[in-house]
Amino acid sequence: MRWENLREEEFDSAIEKSNKVCIVPIGCLEMHGQHLPVGTDTKTVEYIANEAAKLEEVVVFPGLYFGSVPGLNMWKGTIDFSLELRLGMLNELCSEIARNGFKKIMLLNGHGGNCATLSAFVRSTLHTKKDYVVVARNEYQYGIQRLARELRGGQKFPELNEEDIKNILSFSENEYLTGHACVNETSIMLAIEPENVDVSRADSVCGLDLHKTDYLTNKPYSIDGGVGFWLIDHPNSFEGEHIEMASANIGKVILRKRIEYQAEACRLLKKDDNLLEWYKEHWGIEE
Ligand SMILES: [Zn+2]
Repeated sequence: MRWENLREEEFDSAIEKSNKVCIVPIGCLEMHGQHLPVGTDTKTVEYIANEAAKLEEVVVFPGLYFGSVPGLNMWKGTIDFSLELRLGMLNELCSEIARNGFKKIMLLNGHGGNCATLSAFVRSTLHTKKDYVVVARNEYQYGIQRLARELRGGQKFPELNEEDIKNILSFSENEYLTGHACVNETSIMLAIEPENVDVSRADSVCGLDLHKTDYLTNKPYSIDGGVGFWLIDHPNSFEGEHIEMASANIGKVILRKRIEYQAEACRLLKKDDNLLEWYKEHWGIEE
């Protein structure tokens, strides 16, 4: 059930069918090399949320395009709002979703750069009394390396042809790089919006790790420079190689797995009766 498609009188039954669970997909607008569109993360996470909701009925809010992309505004297409605005928007959005009757809100994240903000936001929700619970989950829990292990373990994937299988095994054996706008994201976009992908542009910028900041980040120092360090090592907002090995078939497998995981997470949250009780007990949540 997509929030924006419901008629007003359908909300009560949607709240009941979803057992008060609402999913908020969150991505961003940022450069993804020169071969993928800037909205890749939101398009992907929204697709996964909506497909999973067909397997386990929940309400899905329209995907948010405003994520954490500081430092990327030298490239066209980036929309970089302040942390204060994004936290404020999440706060008011969750409160509005809860006012409508959804008391278990899952922020479904499709952009690695959002993790810190979402974690901070989820923590901040305990600061004042609320009659709802906010949790976060990253959707990107399955990719080509895991697929290769499962193939070697004998699992069958009806989506894949012989060339896909050869590419997946070779990609994994050679330990080619994945990370951002990589073969995983490209395969997904080839499966859901091929008209917005241009694989021939992948080699127009380098996606390799320059390792400039390794001396700071290596153990035992482990200094965390966040996205600043990442951009110094990946100056084209691209972390990946051999994009020509991507395919819509590989994308379909990755999506199917991620959709199944998300449906299971929805199932767990829907049948859970403990969270609202525990939050009420510990933090004085209001009914
Ligand atoms: Zn991405």
